[in-house]
Amino acid sequence: MKKLMILTALMLLSFTAEAFAGVNVVATLPFIGSLAKEIGGDRIEVATLLKPTQDPHYVEARPSMILAARNADILMYNGLDLEIGYLPLLIESSRNPRIQPGKPGNFDCSQYVSAIEKPTSVDRSMGDVHPLGNPHYLFSPGNVLRVAEGIAEGLSSVDPDNEAFYKANLVAFKERFRKKEAGWRGVRLKGARFIACHKIFEYLAAGFGFEIVGYVEPKPGIPPSAGYIEGLIESIKRTKPAAILCTANYGLNDARALAAKTGLKVVVLPQDVGAQAEAKDWFTFMDLAVSSLDKGR
Ligand SMILES: [Zn+2]
Repeated sequence: MKKLMILTALMLLSFTAEAFAGVNVVATLPFIGSLAKEIGGDRIEVATLLKPTQDPHYVEARPSMILAARNADILMYNGLDLEIGYLPLLIESSRNPRIQPGKPGNFDCSQYVSAIEKPTSVDRSMGDVHPLGNPHYLFSPGNVLRVAEGIAEGLSSVDPDNEAFYKANLVAFKERFRKKEAGWRGVRLKGARFIACHKIFEYLAAGFGFEIVGYVEPKPGIPPSAGYIEGLIESIKRTKPAAILCTANYGLNDARALAAKTGLKVVVLPQDVGAQAEAKDWFTFMDLAVSSLDKGR
């Protein structure tokens, strides 16, 4: 009986997959799925693998993710090794020839990105470093704009019939981008100092000219020891940061513990599109990130 139920479920799944005649996009992170939807509109259907509240550094390939990848016409991912722990296995297990490396359906968004913090040497003692550079470019308007342009190209390459449609949506995206960016530029964060939980806000710091003067994590992915926190508190007395930055699902408890010891406030930034109700798409996600920083400065 159980076998029959599974079989029926699989048949229904393949039926619904076939019922949509447009492009099946699978995105790893919510912001990528959201950008794809902006450009692809009703010509695409997007399945996003990670929840906006999930830590993108530690993900396991689940059967539902493999099933989604099996039906994908194009798989869009962040790159810079952020998905290294599960994506190669997912692509292989999907047995989907369209999304294998080198195929147009294997779409690495980071090919359009200029990454910051490329280490000159990497060894394991440095913790969970990102050896290709900082992968958290979703906070970088300039890079996200280039990714959106790339997505229009990527969708056109798997669906050339709708190229004009994707290009028109890109034009609308760029228009909205210009207006929003002008507003973000008006927010003065230059010279502000913050402590951060993880190296996730570096693109914001570079773009807005603020400084991150310390990290709650001694090394990326490594929790702080009591001795490390004592040293950090000493340096906070000298550097006088305005607040501790974290996301609701990354570093909030550590940030609160440090806040209790230092009197600093905690500023919670959105981790990805959809992490907070206001962050409905990438634009409102950035709005929320920038306004939270402005309030916390
Ligand atoms: Zn990271």
